[in-house]
Amino acid sequence: MALIVHKYGGTSMGSTERIRNVAKRVAKWVRAGHQMVVVPSAMSGETNRLLGLAKELAPSKPGDAYYRELDQLASTGEQVSVGLLAIALQTEGIDAVSYCGWQVPIRTNSAYTKARIESIDDRRIRADLAAGKVVIITGFQGVDAGGNITTLGRGGSDTSAVAVAAAIKADECLIYTDVDGVYTTDPRVVPEARRLERISFEEMLEMASMGSKVLQIRSVEFAGKYRVPIRVLSSFTPWDIPIDEEARSGTLITFEEGESMEQAVVSGIAFNRDEAKVSVLGVPDKPGIAAQILGAVADANIDVDVIIQNVGKDGRTDFSFTVHRNDLARALDVLKTQVVPALGATDVVGDARICKVSVVGIGMRSHVGVASRMFRCLAAEGINIQMISTSEIKISVVIDEKYMELAVRALHREFDLDQSTDTLQGA
Ligand code: ADP
Ligand code: ASP
Ligand code: MG
Repeated sequence: MALIVHKYGGTSMGSTERIRNVAKRVAKWVRAGHQMVVVPSAMSGETNRLLGLAKELAPSKPGDAYYRELDQLASTGEQVSVGLLAIALQTEGIDAVSYCGWQVPIRTNSAYTKARIESIDDRRIRADLAAGKVVIITGFQGVDAGGNITTLGRGGSDTSAVAVAAAIKADECLIYTDVDGVYTTDPRVVPEARRLERISFEEMLEMASMGSKVLQIRSVEFAGKYRVPIRVLSSFTPWDIPIDEEARSGTLITFEEGESMEQAVVSGIAFNRDEAKVSVLGVPDKPGIAAQILGAVADANIDVDVIIQNVGKDGRTDFSFTVHRNDLARALDVLKTQVVPALGATDVVGDARICKVSVVGIGMRSHVGVASRMFRCLAAEGINIQMISTSEIKISVVIDEKYMELAVRALHREFDLDQSTDTLQGA
């Protein structure tokens, strides 16, 4: 008997028929003798629908009061899901009880729309499990110290599931989704992408942080911190496939870096369209400008990603960086009103038509020449690189958004990820 957490995404919960299937699958695990906690997302499209309604009524300069209500609203999608799933399980003859984040409680900080989990009280969960119940907990949400409902950012149900798994020391957290595992890149963009049997925790962390939406980045961080074994697998297999087969399917996020894994120089390619580029032009080239520019942006609570400062000419230079697209207007405003006049810079411009493409692989630690191979490949496709950033196991480039798919496909081929001989598979 094991203690298992299942997470089901929006598509997997997308209709009453699908919820019935989820219930049958969970019931199968219960009948096999496991203690089960289930964390579902809102039904597919529901979070977008709710946020769309709010947008119709939103004030022109939204503040914290607005974001509080946004969370109050968006969290309801998951409340519907847990109620329906509990009913479906009861219909299967399984004792089940559902809770919203605040009822557990899952405590978070007060950063509405992107709150971080601070602690989870496991007493209620444990008592119900001991009483033989399946415990169903809303994904995506928690409660702050003031009793306000918060949400964890888009895709946050992954994080809820892994955090709950960590809190109750579950044996495994199974993330059921609409693809059958983690692929070398998004299979919806590159049909030749291949599923990985295993991926190292560090690679998954980079893939997620570089834009692979299959797992929310914070869920991977939690898994690393608390050593929670995670498996990503399909919720679209027939619910009655043998449980052993199901338990071995999909992709395991592993903490071991086996020998065969290191043979793959690049394991995956991630991309993201969520960023925008900001350039401060004609900045006087003197000590302290980076601090002044980025300090003002940080004070406005805007996260900065890739940064580049050009070589100065005639005592002036250009300074560029990327921010989340949703923050572009605010970043430009801060720079125009505070920084440009104070620094005596010429201008500030924004470009939302960019994307970031990253190659990821722990094999890069022991192989040189990955960057030059990447740049040559992009050059051969006529793609201009605007910015570059690297870490030990990742190289990212910022390019024109219109070349995103071309770049991802070309790099996927370049690093032999299309081929069927996968050093990672079966590793
Ligand atoms: P859920 O609703 O189950 O949380 P998501 O839409 O959040 O599902 O995540 C699953 C999606 O992630 C897939 O449908 C796929 O398009 C996308 N994706 C992006 N990168 C990858 C990757 N490397 N491997 C698998 N899926 C990926
Ligand atoms: N329902 C939330 C969203 O759409 C959380 C999730 O699905 O993980 O972002
Ligand atoms: Mg998701």
